[in-house]
Amino acid sequence: MKIALASALLLSVTPLSAVAQDHAGQRAEWNRPQQPFRIAGNLYYVGTSELAAYLITDPAGHVLIDVPLAESAPRIAANIEALGFKVRDIRRLLVNHAHWDHADGLAAFKRLSGATLWASAADRATLESGRATDRDDLPPLAPVKVDRILRDGDVVAIGTTRIKAHLTPGHTPGCTSFTLETRDPRISQGRPLKVLLACSMTVAGQRLVNNARYPAAADDFQRSMARMKSIRPAIFLNFHAGGFDLAAKRARQLDGDAAAFVDPSEWPRRRLEAEQAFQTELARQKAEQPAAR
Ligand SMILES: [Zn+2]
Repeated sequence: MKIALASALLLSVTPLSAVAQDHAGQRAEWNRPQQPFRIAGNLYYVGTSELAAYLITDPAGHVLIDVPLAESAPRIAANIEALGFKVRDIRRLLVNHAHWDHADGLAAFKRLSGATLWASAADRATLESGRATDRDDLPPLAPVKVDRILRDGDVVAIGTTRIKAHLTPGHTPGCTSFTLETRDPRISQGRPLKVLLACSMTVAGQRLVNNARYPAAADDFQRSMARMKSIRPAIFLNFHAGGFDLAAKRARQLDGDAAAFVDPSEWPRRRLEAEQAFQTELARQKAEQPAAR
């Protein structure tokens, strides 16, 4: 907590330098290049070695989910062009949650692409101010204007592409997961493959008990995990490459396994692991609280 408080104080005095410097090593580590590639059908990975960015293509215009760091933006643009697509053909920008490691590059990318940003109401204030509304121990992100609010169940439609938004708060108040269907003639005879792009289910330092800035954090986590139980994706993805074993799957894909990212058993397993980790952390935080007087 001392660290968090110190960070908050530094934040209020020196907006970018001090806290950003704390994270400089992590930023560089997470921003290493990753060759872009097709996951399946019209879904492509265009992110960095650790921080995801997903391109969903359609002849009528493309959708990009997440632009991690400001310094990732040129790399992600280059990845998109390397795959043969045009950055100017991106029509919509989406974001899984308003933290520096997923949203800092949105402002730069919005200028490059001319696309509009659609995001949840509960993450809007963080995106537009650059400061997390729900906690004070994180580096800022480059402020970016939200052009349209995504509500639970909204569908982002372009051409024949449909991307459904699921509000799954907890990690942030507006954490948003997405589902879509894609078809790939190399996999399952081209039958539709359901894809889940899950917002972070990790606590990652969030205060779950007596958090005046986000009192519903623990309840939101539990509700979101319960709601997401019914999703049955053939392909599970999240926004940290390590969270779905990108490197191992990509290696298998390069070895000729076109279905390397298809695993219907992965999401139930990951969700259960996340739920158990959450309960352990909640119990730990409750035990840390001073006894009521
Ligand atoms: Zn986060």
